[in-house]
Amino acid sequence: MSFELPSLPYTHAALEPYIDARTMEIHHGKHHQAYTTNLNNALKDHPLIQSQSIEDILRGFDNLPAEIKGAVRNNGGGFANHNLFWTVLSPTGGGTPSGALASAINDTFGSFDDFKSKFSTAAATQFGSGWSWFVVDGSGALDVYSTPNQDSPYMQGHVPILGLDVWEHAYYLNYQNRRPDYVSAFWNVVNWAQVAENFAAATN
Ligand code: MN
Repeated sequence: MSFELPSLPYTHAALEPYIDARTMEIHHGKHHQAYTTNLNNALKDHPLIQSQSIEDILRGFDNLPAEIKGAVRNNGGGFANHNLFWTVLSPTGGGTPSGALASAINDTFGSFDDFKSKFSTAAATQFGSGWSWFVVDGSGALDVYSTPNQDSPYMQGHVPILGLDVWEHAYYLNYQNRRPDYVSAFWNVVNWAQVAENFAAATN
C-alpha cells in the first residue's frame, strides 16, 4: 500500500479572499503531491513500515532505519502536516471554538485571545520555513509552539489538533513578505468544529 494525496474538502477558490485559488492549486497539487510521492519512494523497500499509519511512523521516528530518517522526516512530516492542514480550514470557518475545547483553551491560556496571540506569535516568529501548532501533549495538556521545516508534533509524542503552514509556498503569491497578514487572515477560515473533533479524539 502506498500513501495517497487526499482530495481537498472544498474547491481551490473556496478560501478566498484569505487564501487564493492559485496558491491552493499549487500547494495541494504540487507541494503536497511531491511530499506524498517522495514518502512513497523512501518507503518502497520497507513494506512493514509502509503498512503503518503515517502518524504511527512519525511517532516511531527515532527507531526508523538511519537511511530513511531524513526522507521520512521531510516527506512523511510534509504528508501528515498537509493532511491535517486542509481539514482544519473551511470556507465557513472562523469565529471562536465552543464547548469543551473553549473551556480547555481558557483554562490553559487564560482566554481565547491569549491563545490566538500565542499561536500567531509562534507563526510569525518561526524563522524560515515551518509550522505553528496547537497540540495535545503526551500528558493530555494543551500547548502551542512552532517547528522548523516539516517536523511533526507526532515525532515528540504530541497530537496536532490545529496547524498553520508558514512556508512561503503557503502565502507568497498573495502576501509576499507579509506573513503576519497571512496569519491574521487564517483565523477567518479555521474550522473549529474539526479542531474540536481532533481535541476530543486526542483527549478521550
Ligand atoms: Mn505547505
